[in-house]
Amino acid sequence: MTRLPLALAPLQDEAWPSYLTRQAAQHGTTLAGMGSHLGLRDARGRWPGRFGVTMAETEAARVAPMLSLAPKQVQRMQLAAYHQLAFDLGGLAHNSAIGGTRATVHAAWVWLAGTTFCPLCLVEDDGVWRLMWRIPWITTCIRHEVGFHGTCHACGGVPGLGNRFHGSAPPRVAAAPDGRRCTGPTPVGHVCGADLSAQPTVQASPERLMRAKRMADLVAGQRGVVSGTERTSLQALRGWQSAIGIAVRLGVVDSDGWGRTHRWANPPRDPDLIDRLLQAVEPLVTAPDRTTGADVLDGWLRDADIRSPHVNTFDRITQTSAALQPVINELLGRHGRAHTVIQRRLTSADGAPFGERDWGVDDIPQLVWPCALPEHLRHSTKPDQRILRAVVSMILARMFTDACDWVAAGRALGFPADKSRNWTRYAFAAKWGIKTDLLDASHALGQKLPKRPRRVSFHRRSQVSGFGSRALADAQSPRCRDQGGSAWCPCYPQPTAP
Ligand SMILES: [Zn+2]
Ligand SMILES: [Zn+2]
Ligand SMILES: [Zn+2]
Repeated sequence: MTRLPLALAPLQDEAWPSYLTRQAAQHGTTLAGMGSHLGLRDARGRWPGRFGVTMAETEAARVAPMLSLAPKQVQRMQLAAYHQLAFDLGGLAHNSAIGGTRATVHAAWVWLAGTTFCPLCLVEDDGVWRLMWRIPWITTCIRHEVGFHGTCHACGGVPGLGNRFHGSAPPRVAAAPDGRRCTGPTPVGHVCGADLSAQPTVQASPERLMRAKRMADLVAGQRGVVSGTERTSLQALRGWQSAIGIAVRLGVVDSDGWGRTHRWANPPRDPDLIDRLLQAVEPLVTAPDRTTGADVLDGWLRDADIRSPHVNTFDRITQTSAALQPVINELLGRHGRAHTVIQRRLTSADGAPFGERDWGVDDIPQLVWPCALPEHLRHSTKPDQRILRAVVSMILARMFTDACDWVAAGRALGFPADKSRNWTRYAFAAKWGIKTDLLDASHALGQKLPKRPRRVSFHRRSQVSGFGSRALADAQSPRCRDQGGSAWCPCYPQPTAP
């Protein structure tokens, strides 16, 4: 194969079909002709299944010299250039069958075929199409401050969305190589040919523009923040996605029918609608902390008339998101019974530390170290901090043993049944509002306990009798190192993983 006579530099973020179309125009042929010349199409004229999405290294190395490009430049024009930034195409690597496609599109919002566009960019760049337009999160042209279009006004087709079998391949009908024109097929076997660059544009509001910039940063791989916690771009985008799933199901936003069934993983094709969805969940995702985020979620549930959200409420609605989970936990902590929250955390995908189960109830003292409580509860007298420390121990016992209720958890620690019941009921009473704090404290301690350098066994339990917190006067009560304790305490520096 020989080098093409005329060289052409790709524009920044230019998509592969766009580049080939411009090459075709420059050499006086069609996109199909260019595809054949470069050996991209097979003998029967078929394009590869992942045209413009991924390209094998060997194929890029073969094609690049003919275009006077480096293989890296060819790869940069494939949608996969945004792999691990805007989405995860890992599913595609495993196999080329439908299963891989499904795994990919279920993991994150991505269009393997079809694109939006900015008419003004098409005018200004003479028909160059950008890869960024193929990312559902980007709804607005930051350069021209107008909303993207999702379809051709003349034929209603989504540009770049081929037939069912060749998702991302160009249409079979040969068209003049002009990036400004719609290549959508008409029923009578012609090409639509409408001038997409002439479609009227609508000025984007400053808020929409801000959302678009936020999304552009994420898609470029910058870290984002979800309800006050910093996340990777992929985690943050999944947080947005999951929040949209919740908002749509709870009727927070009019989704124009989108998302009614199991189309959660397929983003709508209308950029205006996507921006409306982003706008609806913005208060949740951009909440300064998870408490405020939970307030937003609480409001949505109230409006949807869901009085007591259950662990499964959210699982049924949407796929889980590590970034959103702390907010959901916070909310469930307010509504749910403590034990359902504990179960939730045990089975949570984020609960990695619970893989280590080579320790048990003997590693838990009757009262946890004072420094295991959050700062503001360490000296609490109402409720007494000793009772809170006993409750944290009981939560741990439930997390790490098969104790299925508070009485069983207390028994494992040497507490009488009535005390276990009363202390937990008392500590979790709504008037204190500390249930979440206690669950968090247990969770944090549960992560540290298995990593102690030297273990002390607490299996010789002290007698617990009498009334109120005085019953705990003789209970096992290890001290903090700051208070002169000599053994391990939760303040002890965490060993780094080998
Ligand atoms: Zn533009
Ligand atoms: Zn059209
Ligand atoms: Zn300490």
